[in-house]
Amino acid sequence: MGSGSAPEIWEAALGELQIQVNRPNYRTWLAKTVGLSYQDNQFVVGVPNTFVAEYLDKNQRSLIEKTLTGLTRQNTEVTFKVNGRHTISSDNYGSRQARPSSMQASFPFLNPRYTFDSFVVGSSNHLAYAAALEVARNPGHSYNPLFIYGGSGLGKTHLLHAIGHAALARGAQLLYVSAEQFTSEFIHSIRNRRTDEFRDKYRTIDTLLLDDIHFINGKEQTGENLCHIFNDLYHANRQIVFTSDCSPKSMPLLAERLRSRLEWGLVADIEPPDYKTRLAILQARVEKMGANVAPEVLQFLARQLQQNVRALEGSLNRLIAYAKLVGSSLTPELAAKALKDLAGNTARTTSITPDLIIEVVANSFRISPEDLKGRQRSRETDFARKVAMYLVRQETSCSLAQIGKCLGDRDHHIISQANKQIAHDLAIDPALKEKISDIQQLLYHQHPR
Ligand code: ADP
Ligand code: MG
Repeated sequence: MGSGSAPEIWEAALGELQIQVNRPNYRTWLAKTVGLSYQDNQFVVGVPNTFVAEYLDKNQRSLIEKTLTGLTRQNTEVTFKVNGRHTISSDNYGSRQARPSSMQASFPFLNPRYTFDSFVVGSSNHLAYAAALEVARNPGHSYNPLFIYGGSGLGKTHLLHAIGHAALARGAQLLYVSAEQFTSEFIHSIRNRRTDEFRDKYRTIDTLLLDDIHFINGKEQTGENLCHIFNDLYHANRQIVFTSDCSPKSMPLLAERLRSRLEWGLVADIEPPDYKTRLAILQARVEKMGANVAPEVLQFLARQLQQNVRALEGSLNRLIAYAKLVGSSLTPELAAKALKDLAGNTARTTSITPDLIIEVVANSFRISPEDLKGRQRSRETDFARKVAMYLVRQETSCSLAQIGKCLGDRDHHIISQANKQIAHDLAIDPALKEKISDIQQLLYHQHPR
């Protein structure tokens, strides 16, 4: 395998490492690394600074080599290289050589892949997407601050970088910083008695993009300090965008003043993508990579109950790397085998089937699956049936006719009608939204029977 596939192999490795090391560890040491090259069994990983290089070399080398060896099926050795292009805005991070001029010192690292164009919009993320786009077009005026929250790997950082690219294209001065960097930079400035300088750096920009603000929850002093910066920027109509794993309300340890400010603009959540969005994300990725993957393989992958887009992409990369290695084309059978082999049987190969959906929906409405499929026309049963039709449509690749068949041999027009009705109700009825989201959670966590 040539060096061209190093980024994909490394993304696959990161997918596995994420499962094996704890979250803070992953975020601190691995999240900002990239696969640079892979040749003669030597794998080079790009890291943001020497500190990270030393830490990984000392503490994670054997785990990383084991993971890479598992993926490439070759005894692989790893080296870490400070990757010049991969600098980030904080002064505590990034290599010096990477910054030839002071202009570039504050030039943020934005992933070139994370643009609006490459973001696949579906019902789970359209609000956050639309809000981000609006903020990019009309900064400081539409939603300020914009607060995007949702589970890990659902595209928050992607949207944040997309806003960043748009701002840079306009020539705006911007800072993209993770809450973790913000905190350590702040602590550093206190130690060196340079808090004024720190604050100046932030208050003189047009756009502040602060990623993973939940990290500040419980860090009172940092929260207070951010509050001051917020005030300065907000009153000067500068755009502020936050992302977080959870909503402002679920961060009780955040300074109250800051928490209320987070809700001043728009709070938009991102939910796990449904089947169709998952499939569209995979299709877009394959197209971008120029890889040749059969549609059935993508459908197979999208059915894998993966709620996390990062994991979904990881599986795709893993499969492509695997197929290259064994020199075979990617059939659904090979895909199933590869996922099983590579993840040491931890990959979930069961899919959400119409029967499973019917059972879970029936349970949640306290009726029997037979009644759900049957002809009974009480209001409650009728509604539960429509919900089942809607969810089978969302969560599987069944056609309308197939859905009609599993739900008591009904005509496809009825299914189409039910879909429209539930989609419409969902948009106006928060209780229904919650109910369907609960059912989806049950589906995603249901074990194979
Ligand atoms: P988060 O910040 O929410 O943890 P990221 O923004 O890092 O998640 O996304 C994880 C990966 O999934 C990235 O590679 C990102 O490009 C991809 N991704 C997430 N959502 C989408 C989407 N809707 N369309 C395309 N790619 C997506
Ligand atoms: Mg993120």
